[in-house]
Amino acid sequence: MAIVGTLKTFKGGRYFPRLQGLPRGPLREGPVPPRVHLPLRQGFGEEPDPLVEVGQRVRTGEVLARSDEKISTPVLASLTGTVVRVEEGVHPLDGEPTTVITLEADPEPYRDDWAPLDVPRGNFERWGPEELGRILYEAGVTALGKWGFPTPFRTAPAEPSAIRALLVNAVEAEPYLRGDRALLFEEFEKFVTGLKILKSALGNIEVHVGLGYDLPHVLEELEARMEYHDWLYLHPLLPKYPQGEDEVLIKTILNEEVPAGRPPTDLGVVVCDVQLVVAAYEAVVEARPMVDRVVSIGGSAMAQPVNARVRLGTPVGDLLEQFGNQGPSRVIVGGPLRGSSVTDVDAPITREARALVALEEPRSPSVTTRWGFLPGADSHVRLLPPFGREKRATTALVGGTKPCIRCGDCVDICPQNLFPIELAEAGERGDLERAEELTIFACIECGLCSYICPSKIDLLEGIRKAKRWIREERLED
Ligand code: SF4
Ligand code: SF4
Repeated sequence: MAIVGTLKTFKGGRYFPRLQGLPRGPLREGPVPPRVHLPLRQGFGEEPDPLVEVGQRVRTGEVLARSDEKISTPVLASLTGTVVRVEEGVHPLDGEPTTVITLEADPEPYRDDWAPLDVPRGNFERWGPEELGRILYEAGVTALGKWGFPTPFRTAPAEPSAIRALLVNAVEAEPYLRGDRALLFEEFEKFVTGLKILKSALGNIEVHVGLGYDLPHVLEELEARMEYHDWLYLHPLLPKYPQGEDEVLIKTILNEEVPAGRPPTDLGVVVCDVQLVVAAYEAVVEARPMVDRVVSIGGSAMAQPVNARVRLGTPVGDLLEQFGNQGPSRVIVGGPLRGSSVTDVDAPITREARALVALEEPRSPSVTTRWGFLPGADSHVRLLPPFGREKRATTALVGGTKPCIRCGDCVDICPQNLFPIELAEAGERGDLERAEELTIFACIECGLCSYICPSKIDLLEGIRKAKRWIREERLED
């Protein structure tokens, strides 16, 4: 039978209160946008080479870019229409250059003309890792997750045969992230079969599902449905942020440490989320390529917070308009602790964009001059006193950065047992040797140290900078 573990958690981390603007209600279907922008670097891996030209007509799911010799996953058309641009642009999350393909949808009345996946007939349990891996790769599913999903193609740092355990992260602890929860509620059947598909794709390994203990009915249902599957382990977890992060999940469930800066595949482990499990089902059973993803759209500035299936490449401006952004607000792609601020309404939703959060921007000029729209520094979210039962989160920062008062809060909250202030100071001094001694690459960039710091020191940004310098130095050597 499915084996259920005892309630587990980890040291450090943070519980967040219920917030105003939390996405809820049934999963919504976002409309097909008139235009999508598809960066070729999306999710894990390098960018594949474009295979289409300007003026070419494409069907939904058709391959736009593919390079089997690179560590990459194909990029697919997310609508039926025409290629109108193939040019250098920037990735919306990291600001680094990447080729972007822009598609214009067919005129109204729009109808998807699908390019279905090549999927054999019969029971997928007989197909084996080779065939299942091919389908997942061609469906564009393998770029999800921090380190991709292993297949016979070059989609992850290890081959499927090197994997002994799959961990499914079904705990969403970062504020406003509710997409996986919505998928579990509404696509439960797909999730159950998706688990079997991924297990078969990795050569019949053991599968661990980490679920928030606040979802007892989902746990009970899974336990009942998987009664005769002794490869499945269910773990009720405290929904404390950042429980779902690969390193933290592995430590909590398997009690193993991922070596600093190394992928979990070094331990023979792969981590994925609910989205990947459901997308695997849709690819293998429905022959449906991954052309959309569930995005949690919320925040104190959103009039209609929802979880919606959004076509990849949809400009964030379209979503803000549709779901009622009540500016002025700071718009963040990803959660408020780890996401990136975007100021360009054309910035697209990519495979890794789990959330779109719009937080009220305070009106006082003293607040915005120092920190307004600081990319990547969104951990400076303040939680204000509750209105009713929920709290309101804004980007309000009372005053600017002050000197460190050595309170130790950043050390206490760090789930990786690091010394964030020492890391940031070593980076500031350019003492990269010291930063490496302090195991800077064990930092999982959860942003909690910046969030908690009473002096408003942007520790994460300092740590990220130091990491970048060390990587550049290594490349030069
Ligand atoms: S040092 Fe890294 S892992 Fe630790 S709290 Fe800060 S961002 Fe998170
Ligand atoms: S939380 Fe801020 S003030 Fe406190 S020790 Fe860390 S850096 Fe210094």
